[in-house]
This record gives sequence, structure tokens and C-alpha cells, in this order.
Amino acid sequence: MSDDREWELNDSEDHDVTTDESQSVTDPEVHQDKTDTDESGKKKGGREHYCSMCLRPESVAGHLMEIPGMGGQPVYVCEDCMQKSFDMVKNTNFNDILNNYRNMGMRFNGADAVGHNRAEEADKGGKKKPEKKKLTLKDIPAPHIIRKKLDEYVIGQDHAKKVMSVGVYNHYKRILSEDKDDDGVEIEKSNMLMIGPTGSGKTYLVKTLAKMLDVPLAITDATSLTEAGYIGDDIESVVSKLLAAADNDVARCETGIIFIDEIDKINKKKNTNQRDVSGEAVQQGLLKLLEGSEVEVPVGATSKNAMVPLQTVNTKNILFICGGAFPDLEDIIRERLRKTSSMGFQAQLKDEGKDDKNILQKVTMEDLRAFGMIPEFLGRLPIVFALDAMDEDMLVRIMKEPKNSIIRQYQKLLAIDNVELVFEDDALHVIAKEALEKDTGARALRAIIEDFMLDIMYEIPKDPNIGEVVITKAYVEHTGGPGIFMRGQPVPELPDGSAVNV
Ligand code: ADP
Repeated sequence: MSDDREWELNDSEDHDVTTDESQSVTDPEVHQDKTDTDESGKKKGGREHYCSMCLRPESVAGHLMEIPGMGGQPVYVCEDCMQKSFDMVKNTNFNDILNNYRNMGMRFNGADAVGHNRAEEADKGGKKKPEKKKLTLKDIPAPHIIRKKLDEYVIGQDHAKKVMSVGVYNHYKRILSEDKDDDGVEIEKSNMLMIGPTGSGKTYLVKTLAKMLDVPLAITDATSLTEAGYIGDDIESVVSKLLAAADNDVARCETGIIFIDEIDKINKKKNTNQRDVSGEAVQQGLLKLLEGSEVEVPVGATSKNAMVPLQTVNTKNILFICGGAFPDLEDIIRERLRKTSSMGFQAQLKDEGKDDKNILQKVTMEDLRAFGMIPEFLGRLPIVFALDAMDEDMLVRIMKEPKNSIIRQYQKLLAIDNVELVFEDDALHVIAKEALEKDTGARALRAIIEDFMLDIMYEIPKDPNIGEVVITKAYVEHTGGPGIFMRGQPVPELPDGSAVNV
């Protein structure tokens, strides 16, 4: 290479077109070439052409191709250089070059705020991301179908499922039929407020719903939000999370769902002299989002700053679902009921104790206001409903009935090793009782089951002769072992068919 280069440099100096004569004396090869008569007669006695790239004369480089150059002047390129150019073009990754330019701050047509061109990205690696199609009324199932689908995953919570199915159906009908009629009837937004104890399935309901409707979903925690300018996430960050969930597709983001959990934590703080930056101020800040407004949201960050690109999103058609456990709300409701009953309806006093477990179902706006939610905020969440607290039977059903219940998941894992896994009904009740004590609803189930399943999942694959494992009450209570049966060995009947083999 260095030799070549030296030659090229010397050559370029020596073979100046104007010093053609002198060159022919010092370089015998060139000289000889030049004195020969070319078949085409092109060069004889005339000026020799040089390759514009390697600067070699035609006598050395061989045949030169003539290419029209700028200003009408032809340029000449030898075959070697032409081949090198083709190879270079073939091996160049133009996406890398474009990305380098992007990193230098350049923008291209069709690029979005973060400088990514979706079409180019999709082309990368030859894989095309399937385009998410726009939502149409046909994609939105009727309330009874939504409910049926929810039933497959969510156990109990019948009232909540019914209210949500209707709310969601109306919400999307409102969006999709928006511009059609001009009769002055404007359907209100169906933002929802869900009240339910921890682990009663609030998040799970929303997740299942979003998945079923194939709309983007952002789940955020109200406790991390603060008024703009204070430490914590800006309120608008909830929208930027949704934008990220929609792959920065603004149109999809604008028809998505935002679930704000722990909404009870932003209640108005009582007896405080300081500014309530994470309570009432957050409720105030959320008002315009809930109602619908154009917000500039940071792309890929939770707060705005000079380095983060912004995108405008209209929240008019975003469905907001707020959820919280509202821990002291029960006392507020009870107090209200006590006051009403003490006004003469003594019979109601007796009923109070009976319904105590699901007293949250009797919630009113007045109770929520007493809890510390401001009226303007409540006004923007027209659909309010409560979830039932978990009881033992519900927990047992949660373990075995849903399509992807935890038991089914373990069964699937062991089935890969050709081992059948059976849970005794008694064992499930013991687990449910233990979970109830933890007071975290269905959340406690996984931890309890994982704890005693660890040994099973570790030991069983050791012996390929094991064909069936029965999780017994004694095993769950740590007073005995599981039932283990070898392949081909008859499995004894369990008492009154109580084994669960879903
Ligand atoms: P939270 O009400 O605190 O938001 P989650 O929805 O996060 O509770 O519930 C935790 C887990 O418990 C879920 O992921 C789900 O597996 C299970 N779960 C809770 N409630 C139900 C239910 N009603 N039906 C089926 N599974 C449930």
C-alpha cells in the first residue's frame, strides 16, 4: 500500500499533463506506451488521460472510462478504481451514516421528534415492525363481550367488570363517532375512579382491558408526581409514559389508557402550613389532563429540559382510570351511615355490621370529598366504583380458574418434563387463609406458592421416573411431604375427588 501511495504521489507530480514530454524520458514504460500508436489513435502524439481517482496515466492503469463531469468536462476513471467504488457502495451501511448525521443534530424528512424515522428503523435488519392499525368501531366489542373476556382472567368483581365494560365501550364510541354528527350532543368523557383494597385486581383489570382492546397503556403511581418545579415527576410525565408505550406514535397515544395508581395518596393534606406540592397541587395539575388539553410532553424523559425533545399530545380522547385503596375511607362511610341511621332508622344499624366487608361499595362523592379529594378532580372522574375485598373462596378461585392462573403456570412448567402436577383442594384453602392474614389480597398468593414450590421445582427434574406430584394440605402446612408417584404406578384416589387438576 505504501509503495503504491508513493508511486501515486510521485506519479501525480511527475505526470502533470503539461510536462508530458519530460516524463516520457524518465519513465521508460510510460515512454514506450506513449510512443506506441493506440488502436483508436486517441493518444498518439496527443495528451494522455489520467484516472481522476488514482491519478495513474492510462498507459499504466489500462483502459479509462470517460464519465461526464461537472461543467461538461469529462473525467476519466480506471477500471480498478471503478470496481473499488462499486465495492465500497455495496458494503456501506447507509443507515449508520444517516444515524451519524442524526447524532450531529441533523434532521431528515419524515423523522420524528427523536430523530428516528420509523420506516428506516423498520428496514434495519430486514425486519419490518407490523404497523398498528388505527382503532375503528368494529374493534370495540360490545359491553357483554368485554365482560366475558374479563371473566376469563379476573375472578369475582362482577360490579366492577360490568361498570368498566360499559364505561370503556362508551368511551371508544364517543371517540370514534366524534366528528360524524353535528347535533350539539356532546358525550362526556368516561374517566373512572376505582376504589379497592390492595391486591383486589385494580391494575390487573386495567391491564387485561388494554390488552383486549389492543390500545397502549401507561401505569403510573400518583405518589411520584409533584407540582412542576419540585423534586419528583412532572404531572405531564404520565402522558409521556403513554407516548412511550405507543412507540412514540402520537395518534395511538391519543386513544390510549392511563392508569394512575395510589390516587388516594394525593389527597388534600389536613392541618398543613406548607404548600401541598404532592397532594392538592397534583390534583389541580391533573385537572386539565383529565378534561382534555394539548400538552407538550418530553419524549423519553419524565421532566422537560433543554436537551429533551417535546411532542404535542391531545389528552381529549385518552381514558384516565384512577385507582386507590383509600384506607380511611371505610371509617368515613361508616360514620356517615351511623349519622343517617341515628336519625331514626334504627333498623339500618343492624345491617351495618353485615355489609361491613364491602362497605366501600356504599361510597359517595361526599365521602371522597371528606377523604381529601377536591370537587373539581372528582367532577372529572364521573364513573366511581368499588372492588370487593378478597375472601378465602375468591382467593382459591384466583389460584385455579383464570386462564393464566399461577397453578396452571406451574402445571405447564412441569408438563414440559412430563410430570403431572395436582393440587389438593384443602391445600389451596390453607394457602388462601395464609394469604388473607397478610392483608395484601391476591398479591400474597404468588409469594406463598413460590415458597413451597421451590423444592418441588428443584427436586422433581432429578428423577425422570417421577410421573405425578400431588401438593397436599400437609405439605403446605409443613407437617408432611407432597405425594410423589412414579410413572406406571397407580395413583390412589384422592378423598371425594377433591384434587385440583385444572
Ligand atoms: P391492585 O388492586 O393492588 O392493583 P393487582 O391488580 O396488582 O392489585 O393484583 C395483583 C395480582 O393478583 C394480579 O397480578 C393478579 O394476578 C392477581 N389478582 C388480583 N385480583 C384478581 C382477580 N380478581 N382475579 C384474578 N387475579 C387477580
